[in-house]
Amino acid sequence: MLTQKELERYHRQMLIRNWGEEGQKKLRAATVFIAGAGGLGSPVAIYLAVAGIGKIRICDFGEPELSNLNRQILHTERDIGKNKALSAQETLHEINPHVEVEPLAEKISEETVERLVGSSTIILDCLDNFPTRHILNRYAVKKGLPFIHAGIFGLSGQLTFIHTPETPCLHCIFPGSPPPAVFPVAGVAPGVIGVLEATETIKWIVGIGKNLKGRLLIWDGELMEFQTVAVNKDPNCPVCKR
Ligand SMILES: [Zn+2]
Repeated sequence: MLTQKELERYHRQMLIRNWGEEGQKKLRAATVFIAGAGGLGSPVAIYLAVAGIGKIRICDFGEPELSNLNRQILHTERDIGKNKALSAQETLHEINPHVEVEPLAEKISEETVERLVGSSTIILDCLDNFPTRHILNRYAVKKGLPFIHAGIFGLSGQLTFIHTPETPCLHCIFPGSPPPAVFPVAGVAPGVIGVLEATETIKWIVGIGKNLKGRLLIWDGELMEFQTVAVNKDPNCPVCKR
């Protein structure tokens, strides 16, 4: 049963069609893995926390720097020098103390991924590099877990909901890894894409609407245009070929 406080706190969202108390209980029972507590991880974690998600496992081995603060809204100048996952835990606790936050101050690798994801039932890509995304993609495909890919650049971004074998995997869509670089980004870009990523997560957990499966959403903030393109499985994909 939901407590009186929960009924009150989540009242307005439970009015959404097919959400109700049952949907809210599903959110409370859910554990999500957020890979990265930076630009994307900030709005994703904040909106999942206010929605009343049960448990957030948030993973980041970095520390906030002054140049991160134009977009990484989980952190403030006071947090410079702390670990980002720990700083995220503190902020999220202020926002909703009923959400359990597990900070993971570690680097995601082939060796650590299973332990870090733990009992999470969905993996959220809030990263800034493709090599680590591909590690998460391989793990998600192996375990049959949904994996939401999000990426941003400048005033633009992209999003897709991966859940093999129903959808293509990340490798089918983006087989390579662009070389690492300091790329331009305005805080609103991870804001827009991160909120959409949280929306997809909430929909999947509550069981409402239609996820972005087999479709890649592309946002161009300069022209203020959204477009959705179909993405297909690579029949020879080394990751998800059955
Ligand atoms: Zn694939």
